[in-house]
Amino acid sequence: MREGQLYINGKFVNSNSRKTFVSLNPATAKPFGIYQAGNKKDVDNAVKAAKKALPSWKKTPAPKRAEILFEVSSLLRKNKEKLAKIMVLEMGKILKETRGDVQEAIDIFEYMTGEGRRLFGHTAPSELKNKFCLTFRIPLGIVGLITPWNFPIAIPAWKLAPALICGNTCIFKPSSDTPGCAVELIKILEKACIPKGVVNLITGSADDVGIQIIKHPNLNGISFTGSVETGEFITANAGLKKVGLELGGKNAIIVMDDADLDLALDGIIWGAFGTTGQRCTAASRVIVHKKVKKELEEKLVKKAEKLRLGSGLKETTDIGPLINQKAVEKSEYYTNLGKKQKAKLLCGGQKADMNGFFFRPTVFANVKPKMRIAQEEIFGPIVSLISVSNLNEAIKVCNSVKYGLSSAIYTNNIRNAMIAINEIEAGITYVNSSTIGAEVHLPFGGVKATGHGREAGWTAIEEFSEEKTVYIDYSGKLQRVQIDTVDVKKK
Ligand code: NAP
Repeated sequence: MREGQLYINGKFVNSNSRKTFVSLNPATAKPFGIYQAGNKKDVDNAVKAAKKALPSWKKTPAPKRAEILFEVSSLLRKNKEKLAKIMVLEMGKILKETRGDVQEAIDIFEYMTGEGRRLFGHTAPSELKNKFCLTFRIPLGIVGLITPWNFPIAIPAWKLAPALICGNTCIFKPSSDTPGCAVELIKILEKACIPKGVVNLITGSADDVGIQIIKHPNLNGISFTGSVETGEFITANAGLKKVGLELGGKNAIIVMDDADLDLALDGIIWGAFGTTGQRCTAASRVIVHKKVKKELEEKLVKKAEKLRLGSGLKETTDIGPLINQKAVEKSEYYTNLGKKQKAKLLCGGQKADMNGFFFRPTVFANVKPKMRIAQEEIFGPIVSLISVSNLNEAIKVCNSVKYGLSSAIYTNNIRNAMIAINEIEAGITYVNSSTIGAEVHLPFGGVKATGHGREAGWTAIEEFSEEKTVYIDYSGKLQRVQIDTVDVKKK
């Protein structure tokens, strides 16, 4: 069994709690590793270390901070296969996908290395003579990074890389389902010679670690990815910290009657069942034009039934397990709810008869937009087909949920595509491609209950820094703005 410790002030240490917890391999339901159950004292120690490290890290020129990020990206690349295999064993998704997860981390560290030579501010003219105005970026200070289990290396990397390049010091709390992946990432940062105290890792529960981070008076920012419920809790308890929230989704793929149906089908299979439906951008609704409904249903069921469940380490596996028993129960609960509300179960709908947390790919047809299976995030391999008569209705149904993360439309009509791009309420819209496929150099995030803020791309810099405004008056006299105005009108 693997083991891992907390990382505070540049050292791997045990928790003050003297307690540990176990993370499971979801494909076997057997222990994967044993980790430290951090507590308030550990969080306090980490914050002390981060506070001590802040002045020097902040003063380190950004291109020099970038050298460490570049080293992290190179080390991740060297260790990609090893990390991907560890991730399969702790998180469950298939090797192709865990390789992609590590690749996202490589990409974001590489991208943020470049930001070290940008971190652009603005210059602007002054309304007075002999005065110069500019802005530049300053770090927030100490930031708390709280992450989920579904992208156990990529999401922490999406937060650490921009936080570090901006000059912040960090307290990182990973999900209790994937502490092992977090420890591996921290080992890479240590190897890349991150100065002590700049990054601190505290594994442990939401109550003993997460809440302590959120409420800590010495933290200046919180970047959170996870459920809406936790997002709401953070909003109510983080006080005046700058908070970024990347929350859930109930993403839809619209399939118009003019779409290439086989292309749409590939997108639906990938969007609904990739990562066993456990992506914030997973396609859990398909809004299909009634003219192609029957054909799409038949093709989808045929394909879904052929998907092979199993260990993510086997090249032949298409779908890995769900993350834990609670997730299996949630998928069972929503399947029963769908049946009770008279949606038509076309395939799946039950736990697979295997060890581990496997659930069969599930397709519901005749789903009404207001049914709970069409409104609530399930986070499992369950997709609901909703039939509509035209594009307007499709967009109305698409927008009828509280979330607004990702969306997609399959159509060969440019007018349909443009209307959808403009009218869908979501942070991301794909045309003729699934709801999954974010690239690290573009903003990522949602609207409505999906939260606010944008990760990745240039917008990540905005999340982890503030702009400082500078006025330089070289007139040699008192110039009062709005009072001593420059008169340009001819007298
Ligand atoms: P979660 O239950 O909200 O947990 C996320 C993280 O927050 C974990 O580290 C968890 O710790 C911690 N946490 C939970 N309650 C807390 C509290 N009251 N105070 C402080 N920390 C707390 O979410 P999850 O089940 O891990 O992840 C699935 C959700 O994440 C889905 O809704 C999914 O859509 C969303 N997600 C969103 C995005 C996006 O970018 N929009 C990306 C991926 C996932 P413990 O593990 O110790 O409980």
